[in-house]
Amino acid sequence: MAAEPKVWDVAIVGSGFAGALIANELGKSRKNVIILEAGAGVAPNIDAYMRRFYSASAKVPESPYTPEIFDPIDGGLSDPNKVNAGRPTVLSLNPKGRFGDWTDPKQAYLIQKGPRPFASTFDRIAGGTSHWLGTCLRFVPNDFKMKSRYGQFVDWPIEYKDLISSYADAEAELGVSANVDEQKYCGIDFPPGYTYPMPKIPNSTTDQHVDASLNRDPLKNEETAFLGMGDPVTKIPVRGVPAARNSEPYRNRRACAGNTNCIPICPIQAKYDPTITLNDAMNTPGIVKLRERTVACDIVVGENGLISEIKYIRYKTETGQRTEAGSVKARAYVIAASDRDPATAADVDKQRPHRAGRGQHKRHGRAKPDGSSLLCRLGHVSGADLSLSRPVDHIGHRRSVRWAVSSRARRVPCRHRQRRLEFRGRRRPQCDDARLRQWSQ
Ligand SMILES: Cc1cc2nc3c(=O)[nH]c(=O)nc-3n(C[C@H](O)[C@H](O)[C@H](O)COP(=O)(O)OP(=O)(O)OC[C@H]3O[C@@H](n4cnc5c(N)ncnc54)[C@H](O)[C@@H]3O)c2cc1C
Ligand code: SF4
Repeated sequence: MAAEPKVWDVAIVGSGFAGALIANELGKSRKNVIILEAGAGVAPNIDAYMRRFYSASAKVPESPYTPEIFDPIDGGLSDPNKVNAGRPTVLSLNPKGRFGDWTDPKQAYLIQKGPRPFASTFDRIAGGTSHWLGTCLRFVPNDFKMKSRYGQFVDWPIEYKDLISSYADAEAELGVSANVDEQKYCGIDFPPGYTYPMPKIPNSTTDQHVDASLNRDPLKNEETAFLGMGDPVTKIPVRGVPAARNSEPYRNRRACAGNTNCIPICPIQAKYDPTITLNDAMNTPGIVKLRERTVACDIVVGENGLISEIKYIRYKTETGQRTEAGSVKARAYVIAASDRDPATAADVDKQRPHRAGRGQHKRHGRAKPDGSSLLCRLGHVSGADLSLSRPVDHIGHRRSVRWAVSSRARRVPCRHRQRRLEFRGRRRPQCDDARLRQWSQ
């Protein structure tokens, strides 16, 4: 085995989607990379996850993964103060008064200022949020111009066209199943001849039923007038979303068997998760080293204003004491500790010495913002924001299909939606909404 360098080319915090993909690419370019991962490492297979999931008394997104959701002694939710590098469970995200009060620090890991709009969580194992669904939507061009187009959030310094080749690389790595023609909407375009790595996953029976029910006859004005689209909406086709699930065997993994267990775990690994890329990264020409159960706790900034090292603390068991402290130096640093854990390193450092010094709990990795950034933008193709979720302002019925429209949806970003419904009018819709104008051009 090659000796570890004293100064790595790149140090990465977090081995989720971002960390794994970056490490793999760097490894292919013969760089020496160290990844610090707060959770357990890459399991040799998924047997232990499956066993934990099958025997779990509560089948929630975190059930297969460590740390344990329930305390083995009293059977209640694990006290986050007693767990190294814990993470919330959806069971702990209930409102006060029900099982798992998210405001009680003995039950819930979450510290959230303001409302808690999305009650799901992330994993803390090599591979990050392995219990994801696998939906792989591209951003539409206007997502990069939210401020200038809609007066919301900020504009990105890059545009959709800057990412086209990166999207293709990521889709190849994840193994995305989709149909290019179906995914051309709102300005999303593809290089000539581009195809997704696999054909789309066939529409489900529900999709087919919704499509058939909605579109057997042209929709009538009185059925869709409440949408306020200007011109009558006559058709609402149902389209699939790109999925990181194999529609056919891909890179040594099997095709999806369609049993819809994707969250929390695919029993046959037809759904992608980042451990697949991490395993590849370990076999690249560079040295890619995953240091698991290692919590980055301090980003040290030198006098030149650049990061000079990242300090970490390590543990061996979920509830044991720290076993090691150290630091890594690198020429470049990547913080890939989740879109929901941005304060991780800084927080840990601020809290640990202080708490440990007072004889309080000496566990690490607590006190993070949570998955509240996972919000849903509903129906950004249509501009009419059609959703099957609440809260709703309008409800429409057609045969056995019921749909709902949320006025809030226009303001809320989303990458997390199973099915997209598109409006097609007899004529181009006339509307002041910039997004609709863009769509109708
Ligand atoms: C239930 C659910 C379903 C989802 N479904 C989809 C979907 O279908 N499509 C989609 O696009 N997105 C989906 N998402 C969102 C998606 O999973 C996340 O956006 C994605 O995981 C973010 O990747 P990441 O690499 O930034 O972070 P993560 O995958 O969360 O990885 C971060 C890693 O950093 C580690 N870490 C954190 N702090 C430290 C520290 N201090 N030291 C060391 N390591 C640290 C964590 O342990 C973790 O392994 C879903 C999320 C959830 C919760
Ligand atoms: S085999 Fe089942 S769990 Fe796996 S991707 Fe397909 S539907 Fe999801």
